[in-house]
Amino acid sequence: MSETPVDIAIIGGGLVGASLAVALAPLIERDGLRVAVIEASELSANGAQPSFDERSSAIAYGSRAHFETMGIWSRLATRAAPIHDIEVSQRGAMGRTHLSCREVGTPSLGYVLPNAFLGQVLHERLSHMSIDWHCPARVEAIAPAVDGHRLILNNGRVLHAGLTVLADGGRSGLKASLGIGTDRHDYEQHALIANIETAREHHGWALERFTEEGAMALLPLRERRMALIWTRPPDIIETTLAMSDHDFLEALQSRLGTRLGRFQRVGTRHVYPLSMSRAREQSRPHLAVLGNAAHAIHPVAGQGFNLALRGVMDLSAAIEAALEAGRTPGEAMTMADFEQRRQSDRDLIMQASDTLVRLFELELPGISRARGAALGLFNLATPLKRALIRRAMGMARH
Ligand SMILES: Cc1cc2nc3c(=O)[nH]c(=O)nc-3n(C[C@H](O)[C@H](O)[C@H](O)COP(=O)(O)OP(=O)(O)OC[C@H]3O[C@@H](n4cnc5c(N)ncnc54)[C@H](O)[C@@H]3O)c2cc1C
Repeated sequence: MSETPVDIAIIGGGLVGASLAVALAPLIERDGLRVAVIEASELSANGAQPSFDERSSAIAYGSRAHFETMGIWSRLATRAAPIHDIEVSQRGAMGRTHLSCREVGTPSLGYVLPNAFLGQVLHERLSHMSIDWHCPARVEAIAPAVDGHRLILNNGRVLHAGLTVLADGGRSGLKASLGIGTDRHDYEQHALIANIETAREHHGWALERFTEEGAMALLPLRERRMALIWTRPPDIIETTLAMSDHDFLEALQSRLGTRLGRFQRVGTRHVYPLSMSRAREQSRPHLAVLGNAAHAIHPVAGQGFNLALRGVMDLSAAIEAALEAGRTPGEAMTMADFEQRRQSDRDLIMQASDTLVRLFELELPGISRARGAALGLFNLATPLKRALIRRAMGMARH
């Protein structure tokens, strides 16, 4: 079988793979980089791609700058809802903290975007780029070859890629076939997501609430709609899914209070099992692992895609530096440069999100009061609070 040579093959055209291809656009135009994207799911089949389902994503303020660099922010902004304030609290205990964009001097703390729209904008941009777009096509096998990898697609095509990027969400088995193991911790929690309509304007407020069953977040969408993430143990998630809309809204109201008035309506509910996972190798010569394939974290702080997007930008910066130095994208030095740019941010965000989840899961005598006091104190510790907000906004590096 004849092989088509490409400089970079991106396996997976979901949120992360499509973002990487768009971020590489200047290098494709300037340096004639040959890039192939292979995506298994048909785009026209609504919601078929896991990234672009009915979820909405909290996009950190720092990610806006990345989308601006990629030339797609002005289009994304037409559907982005700004987050101006976040209130963090725990059910049944005193102490809450309030984070505001006014404290950091930015127009917002971040934005909320429907994933399906993000997918639409990314793929619109891809359709105008000079790339090899294989969709629907699945990479069935990958094997090391001289100066790269050989990829076998189920459409009969064979590619030789100098750099292969695994952005396949981590469930395809390709990573394992290359001998890359994954460390996984099952949170024994599921996230239920749905859109909620509120009686009052939310004015850009997001609520984050920790309850004895798990964390809840309500993020502002456009108009009087909000995106709910409600994490609950697997044994009660089925009952929650089966509730009538009326009972569901009552259950929600009793946990989240009436700050946003009465909850009026709920859209379709979807459930996701939650775990933290991390590939034991994030890169090796001629290979980079990105997005969910590299790391999955608890969605409570809305950091998973934001972290992955910083990985996308670091990889494209490492590739640009390599090309300027006369090196090829997949060379060992390029991959070492990528790893150096990535490591501390990845370690910190993974650790912080896991600690947050475990801290609020702990049920020890007095812990609830201690957490309440900590939230209250944090509210008063302005410099610490500002530093942490900037980190969560993706505005502080390393
Ligand atoms: C409930 C929930 C809420 C979340 N909320 C937020 C949030 O508010 N903010 C945030 O930053 N993050 C959030 N996240 C995390 C975010 O959704 C993920 O980081 C993101 O979806 C990862 O995208 P991905 O492209 O890496 O993987 P995926 O979305 O899994 O995409 C992988 C793609 O690869 C394709 N593929 C797979 N195998 C192959 C193959 N062999 N050949 C070709 N193609 C293949 C698939 O079809 C798919 O399109 C949330 C996650 C969950 C579960």
